[in-house]
Parts: sequence; C-alpha cells; structure tokens
Amino acid sequence: MLTCKEQVARSSDYLEGQLSFREKLMVRHHLMFCPNCRRFMRQMRLMQATLKALPEQADENVDALAERLAEQRRKDNPL
Ligand SMILES: [Zn+2]
Repeated sequence: MLTCKEQVARSSDYLEGQLSFREKLMVRHHLMFCPNCRRFMRQMRLMQATLKALPEQADENVDALAERLAEQRRKDNPL
C-alpha cells in the first residue's frame, strides 16, 4: 500500500489521468482506506475545477481563493 506521502505525490497526475493503470489502482486502494487522503483529493479536485473555471488570478493568494470558493459553495448549497 502507498504511504500518504506517495499518494499525495501522485494526486495531481491521478486527477489529470496521467497515471498508469497499476498506479491508478494503487491510488484508489489507498483512498479507500485513508480518509485524510480522500479529503485531500476532494480539495485538489475542487481546486482544479475552480482554477479551470476562473480567469487568471495569479496575484491572488491560494488560501484566500480556496476560502472564497468554500464560501460560495456554502451559499450555492445551503444545507
Ligand atoms: Zn493517506
């Protein structure tokens, strides 16, 4: 099984579909058993989708951006 560190190192390649079949399986296997990496992967995915959707904002602090998005999501999907 991958360590969390190995998993994180593969996460962006995983999201971009750049991994080999075998590595993809290893990542999925790790995610199945590791809630922390699942959460990390969700954030990565959200971040990627966001960065694609937004115009270039090179100056903006990434944390501020993530915070703003989370805020927007809460507004869009009130519980
Ligand atoms: Zn992990």
